[in-house]
Amino acid sequence: MNPLPRCVDWSALDTYQRINILARPPRLHDAGQLADVRAIIAAVRARGDAALREIGMRLDRCELATFEVGADEFAAAERAVDTGVRAAMRRAIARVEAFHAPQKPQPFALDTAPGVRCEQLLRPIGRVGLYAPAGSAPLPSTVWMLGVPARVAGCGEILLATPPRADGTADPAILVAARLCGIGRVFKLGGAQAIAALAYGTESVPRCAKLFGPGNGWVTTAKLEVAADPDGAAIDMPAGPSEVLVIADDSADPTFVAADLLAQAEHGADSQVLLASPSQHLLDAVVRALETQLATLPRASIARAALAHARLIRVPDLDCAIEIAERYAPEHLIVNTRDARALLPMIANAGSIFLGGWSPETLGDYCAGPNHVLPTLGFARAFSGVGVESFLRRVYVQEASSAGLRAIGPDAARLARAEALEAHARAVDLRLAALDRGSVAL
Ligand code: NAD
Repeated sequence: MNPLPRCVDWSALDTYQRINILARPPRLHDAGQLADVRAIIAAVRARGDAALREIGMRLDRCELATFEVGADEFAAAERAVDTGVRAAMRRAIARVEAFHAPQKPQPFALDTAPGVRCEQLLRPIGRVGLYAPAGSAPLPSTVWMLGVPARVAGCGEILLATPPRADGTADPAILVAARLCGIGRVFKLGGAQAIAALAYGTESVPRCAKLFGPGNGWVTTAKLEVAADPDGAAIDMPAGPSEVLVIADDSADPTFVAADLLAQAEHGADSQVLLASPSQHLLDAVVRALETQLATLPRASIARAALAHARLIRVPDLDCAIEIAERYAPEHLIVNTRDARALLPMIANAGSIFLGGWSPETLGDYCAGPNHVLPTLGFARAFSGVGVESFLRRVYVQEASSAGLRAIGPDAARLARAEALEAHARAVDLRLAALDRGSVAL
């Protein structure tokens, strides 16, 4: 049995120990996994559905005549999922939609000079591919966290891929969630082969312009591979193992803090769990509460494996805890302190923030409203979580009249020559000369 981690005193660490304690374990560049993924992508590109069938038999142990879920399977899924769960899904989807609807940016037009009309159009991505993991545990919540913003953005076609079960059916809760989000086409494909099919297309799977969703190492590596190929597909973001950093002071209930840490730890052995507190009393009480709660947790062995590399850090004060959070840039940040909101202005580097003792991450994972597909591995320093904009493109338009060309053309020509791009300058000068000769109708 893995022992729980010991607390470390931040003030006693030197610069390098501080860097090490906040470092993520290296994992994205597993050479064997990369070779496997490249072979799977090459096979799907070369042989389409036939390769999907062979790989599915090898990795998912089921033989499928067709990958796409049909009407009968959707109907059976409706019957299989508990009515209470379906009602909770409906309420979750409504709240997620309410939060995402105001995210939709507005197009605008502006005259930046007399006769120079500039516009910003918004165009939804035509066809997007979503991935809902279902290897160790099916994650229907991912369906609405991706499907809702795609629908709000107005994407023309939304496809979903999810691994088949051994009996050849998809997880019923994932299918019900897909229906509730208006996703009509679901493909029973998992892992790197699903990503390859969505990125390049096969006889039965249409090719998508952008792929979204979390997944295991094969899924994530495949997403990075197709994103690096101009003939492949764009991706939402590189998704690593899920992570939480909790900042708590002596006002926090240690049983709540322990429960939040375990909620993260039960995701997988590679989950990242950190706690920073100025109170040794709180840290000790949390360790005791972890032991108590682990005793009855169904996924205790997974949670213990994750806790073995957790970090419990004693800090001199809350300012130091914030400094650690800013350095670590967690996917999830829980601030369970006396006046949590007062700390908010000091925080920039986090995917999603949970304020106060009554805001467990679980609310945001399922049904509070904001998205749960968030940047991990420190990407929160520069990336945002998935939102409506992830499914849109800005398209710029500029239209100059002859007066507009006269107004800003000379500047453009001068700046082009300063970059030694003579053809650029001439594209303006030829037009200005034509205007001066009066050889064109104004
Ligand atoms: P999954 O759907 O991601 O992967 C299952 C597929 O992996 C299978 O269908 C199979 O085709 C493929 N596979 C399995 N073994 C293979 C092998 N040896 N070679 C090649 N392919 C193989 O489901 P999962 O495995 O349960 O993983 C889900 C992951 O998603 C977890 O790691 C979890 O942490 C992560 N996740 C991340 C977030 C986030 O926001 N960062 C959220 C939810 C889940």
